[in-house]
Order: sequence, then structure tokens, then C-alpha cells
Amino acid sequence: MYIALESLFGGGVNKLPVDCEFDFSKEELDGVFPFTTPVSVKGEIKNVVGVVTIEADITFSLEVFCDRCAEPVKLDFDIPMVHGLVSSLNEDDNDDYILIEDMKLDLLQLTLEDTFLALPSKFLCKEDCKGVCTKCGANLNNDSCNCKKDIDPRMEALLGLLED
Ligand SMILES: [Zn+2]
Ligand SMILES: [Zn+2]
Repeated sequence: MYIALESLFGGGVNKLPVDCEFDFSKEELDGVFPFTTPVSVKGEIKNVVGVVTIEADITFSLEVFCDRCAEPVKLDFDIPMVHGLVSSLNEDDNDDYILIEDMKLDLLQLTLEDTFLALPSKFLCKEDCKGVCTKCGANLNNDSCNCKKDIDPRMEALLGLLED
């Protein structure tokens, strides 16, 4: 998905709307394919006195598994996409700018990069997810299990003596 930027860099227009949807259903993340709905990119590319920027919102949902309790969870994301775009690099420019080659912006590639950079390293069904019991596997968000709290092995030996 390329957006032609000749008119914008040339000053023929000073604004181009961005309104795209991408299918990321074949994008793998930790062994699963969580992008079950299209990824939407909405915003605009504008030229303000020769400075070209893209400002858009990337919105999508992910169907993943909670890293603590392993329950399936659907999470909504809204990620800002803000970049300066340049048609040639000057010495003053740095990594904040994206070099546009042949006056074409590869919006799909940029969306992929921004999306994956913004994803958290862990997904939680809720901030205070209690996870699962390491002994019986009960989901502690729903059940309280009857497992004893982990006992210090030295204490366990003492308790064993007492029982004898
Ligand atoms: Zn959870
Ligand atoms: Zn338990």
C-alpha cells in the first residue's frame, strides 16, 4: 500500500487524508495470529511550510492469551503514528525522519513497524490478574483453591516430625 506524495512535497496540495485498513491476520506474534480484525490507520499527511508529517491513529484489537492466567482476552489498542517525512536526507536530519524514496510512502510497512514497536511484552486480562495456582492450576481470579501456601522446606520437615 503506497501513498504517492509528489503533490504534497511539491506543494500542489497541503494535506492528504489517510484512511486505510490492513489485514494483519497472517502476522505472527509469539506463535499465534492475534490480529483477528483489520488494523485501521486514520489521519493525515500534511505539508506545513515545507515540513511534511504524517499524524494518524492506528487502532486494532488483539485476541491473545493472558500471560498470567492463560485465559483468552481481547485487547483494544490505539497507537499514535507521528513521523516527519523527508524526500532527501540532510546532515541535520536524524532517525526521527523517514526517508521517502521515489515520492512514495509505504504505509503498510510503516504501520507494521509502528504496531509491533508499540505492543507490550506481556498481555494481561486485567492489571491485577491473580494468575493461576502453581499447584492445582485453578484460575485464582474466579476460584480460591484449597492448596496450602508454599511452606519453607525446613518448616515442612519440622511439621513432619510433629506428625510422627
Ligand atoms: Zn489473566
Ligand atoms: Zn491450588
